[in-house]
Amino acid sequence: KKFVYDFTEGNKDLKDLLGGKGANLAEMTNLGLPVPPGFTITTEACKVYLETGAEPVALSNEVSAHLEALERQMGKRLGQPDNPLLVSVRSGAKFSMPGMMDTVLNIGLSDASVAGLAAQAGNERFAWDSYRRLIQMFGKTVLGVDGELFEEALDEAKRAKNTPNDLDLDAGDLERLVDHFKEIVAKQTGHEFPQEPREQMDLAVRAVFDSWNTDRAKLYRRQERIPGDLGTAVNICSMVFGNLGADSGTGVAFTRDPASGHQGVYGDYLQNAQGEDVVAGIRNTVPLADLEQLDKSSYDQLMQIMSTLETHYKDLCDIEFTIERGKLWMLQTRVGKRTAAAAFRIATQLVDQGLIDEAEALQRVNGAQLAQLMFPRFEEHAKSQRIGWGIAASPGAAVGKAVFDSYTAVKWSRSGEKVILIRRETNPDDLNGMIAAEGILTSRGGKTSHAAVVARGMGKTCVCGAEELEVDTKRRRMTVPGGAVIEEGDVVSIDGSSGKVYVGEVPVVPSPVVEYFEGRMHAGADDADELVQAVHRMMAYADRVRRLRVRANADNAEDASRARRFGAQGIGLCRTEHMFLGERRELVERLILADTDAERDEALSALLPLQKADFIELLEAMDGLPVTVRLLDPPLHEFLPDITELSVRVALAESRKDSNENDLRLLQAVHRLHEQNPMLGLRGVRLGLVIPGLFAMQVRAIAEAAAHRRNVKGDPRPEIMIPLVGTVQELEIVRDEAEKVIAEVQAATGTDLKITLGTMIELPRAAITAGQIAEAAEFFSFGTNDLTQTVWGFSRDDVEASFFTAYLEKGIFGVSPFETIDREGVGALVRSASEAGRATRPGLKLGVCGEHGGDPESVHFFHEVGLDYVSCSPFRIPVARLEAGRAAA
Ligand code: PEP
Ligand code: MG
Repeated sequence: KKFVYDFTEGNKDLKDLLGGKGANLAEMTNLGLPVPPGFTITTEACKVYLETGAEPVALSNEVSAHLEALERQMGKRLGQPDNPLLVSVRSGAKFSMPGMMDTVLNIGLSDASVAGLAAQAGNERFAWDSYRRLIQMFGKTVLGVDGELFEEALDEAKRAKNTPNDLDLDAGDLERLVDHFKEIVAKQTGHEFPQEPREQMDLAVRAVFDSWNTDRAKLYRRQERIPGDLGTAVNICSMVFGNLGADSGTGVAFTRDPASGHQGVYGDYLQNAQGEDVVAGIRNTVPLADLEQLDKSSYDQLMQIMSTLETHYKDLCDIEFTIERGKLWMLQTRVGKRTAAAAFRIATQLVDQGLIDEAEALQRVNGAQLAQLMFPRFEEHAKSQRIGWGIAASPGAAVGKAVFDSYTAVKWSRSGEKVILIRRETNPDDLNGMIAAEGILTSRGGKTSHAAVVARGMGKTCVCGAEELEVDTKRRRMTVPGGAVIEEGDVVSIDGSSGKVYVGEVPVVPSPVVEYFEGRMHAGADDADELVQAVHRMMAYADRVRRLRVRANADNAEDASRARRFGAQGIGLCRTEHMFLGERRELVERLILADTDAERDEALSALLPLQKADFIELLEAMDGLPVTVRLLDPPLHEFLPDITELSVRVALAESRKDSNENDLRLLQAVHRLHEQNPMLGLRGVRLGLVIPGLFAMQVRAIAEAAAHRRNVKGDPRPEIMIPLVGTVQELEIVRDEAEKVIAEVQAATGTDLKITLGTMIELPRAAITAGQIAEAAEFFSFGTNDLTQTVWGFSRDDVEASFFTAYLEKGIFGVSPFETIDREGVGALVRSASEAGRATRPGLKLGVCGEHGGDPESVHFFHEVGLDYVSCSPFRIPVARLEAGRAAA
């Protein structure tokens, strides 16, 4: 195995081996851009080190060989006293990762070579400045000395000189500072600062390897689902100097604006400075455009290179560069991060420039970004006072009064107040408060903390881990940086998309993207904003290539109409139990409790016209498109009176000796029907088989509604779906009954209704016997909510609040399997059931209507498995369309 690659040997596709930085340095070298020569130690070497605790045996010799080649090329040796070669040692994993050691510059400097560097550069001050930087960076990142100690010593030197500016320190000052720094190192580590150049280099390389496993890096990897065994590469690059005087400097640049996507000159430049000064904000940078005045020829060359890079990478790039005495050097480039809005804009801009095609453009955006663009947000130019900045855990913009406990959150929200629940961290006891609040703010915890996980599950705005806010729940207040205090009842605003926290009310505006989907803003209009036009075009690309159809989960005409505006191609799930809530609940109660046929028939006939009217509305809203109506599937306890309340009522009545016959009967029935595990109880098809006439009534209502729509020249396309089937026999019985009813309605109305009958696959047994079930079903719709619940054996209603946080923290899964389909388990059943179903009945229509139907990652899976459609809530429809397009492109 080869552990070291010269920059001339790699390319941008070798990120696994060379890390992002190394691969891109190689790519730029190959493009003929001015990259200081150097080499990369591979991630493979790091892996060996992490596994065995020692560098691979061959590494040292390979490094020596590459170093010698570099020395030959540069005409100087590492640390050579009279003419030293200096190098930087920089980490570079496949994914850039906060928490890892970044860079040590000026490796090779020592007491012996500092004079040589001064002579080489003709600048003594510069040499001592470089040396003190080496000791400072090396001391901090490689030797683990507290960086504050160096900062204090530097401040002291500046104070002694009566200046705030490090440029006022002269060679003598810096020489003394070097001595001071060396003392700090000796005192803190018990060893002298290493003077041997190669030892410096080897120690720095090892420190980069070790930094792979810092706590912060590990935490970041777990949160971002980055595997823990990738390892990092290390780049060793010959130094060029931005701190050689006014004709030198260093800067960062973007090939276009990462916020808007606009092309132009974006970046910062700092004269007479070395790399870390720009990011550290030590002195004020100037806008990159000013470089044109400072050094026109470097500026022109940089613009030329930026355009080369954009054309080459066909994407926005960010860049680090240094100018040494008027000569430009490229130190890094990569495809740059960008906001969701910029991602859409840039993708379409690149299509217009002819750099990428539509299929490629689709890969440059994703559903999560689109979802982000659909949340309401804070007005961009509103006056606001930021008091904190935490982790953007669950997007949206929320405004409300600060409350510091769940009890108050619930109480205040009941009386009509909007509240933001603020806690150090949340736990399952906070659930009610979280439900009541507009948004949740915590000062502790990351993206997988309880608050973050639960808030995302609820679709509620959440900022977590805003550490500079001191939350004092006992005294119901929080202290913000600077000492101001937010008391209970003070208004705060939190931005779950950026993590920012404000005091006072920041005005909220609806998302222009939603206005567009709603049809209130037209992409073609002159004043339509660029973002809306970009979204419009990307949606058109996606719709053109996608194979999956997208339907909506909707139970009323309003949702159905919105879904249609958002691009739904039908309804994939109408949950009819939602039509029985409110006043109608009593009718259902009567039906369930009926003792005689007469009572039952009476209850059913009262329900029939109501149901029929519901379906007419729905079929009208979705005219010409399929509407899948699922027959009743309530967990029974949701429809019966609460057992405790009822018991108390009966007991009270008895004590007053005026007991009510009806209540008594009801109580008996409730006792009889009470279930310990309602989710595994008398639900779905089981209910339909136990209560005579219930399903027949629903089928009749659907058929009559369809006949009515035909009469008024509509184009109704109802599909009837039987829930919670475990065996084909259940389906056969319901099917026979349904066909009879449909035939009756057809005969009575003289119409040919063409209603199809299918089933949900939401129990493991149904999935396993899907081949048999397909004999009685014209379509399958996977109910992945129940299927996940039953395959894993955990309750969908309880787990999020009980043990999921612990599971996520331990990395047992990265996201809840209720959110993203568990490919290996639940997904495998979906795949095999699809194959078995189609083996029995070629052309069997397949869909999914669990929550996963609107989840980006899951949509890709359903595409792969070959389903015909996904069905999701109306607001997820654009996301599903886009992801279905991305999956097919
Ligand atoms: C399902 O189980 O996935 C489903 C869609 O049905 P419900 O969520 O209503 O149980
Ligand atoms: Mg279900």
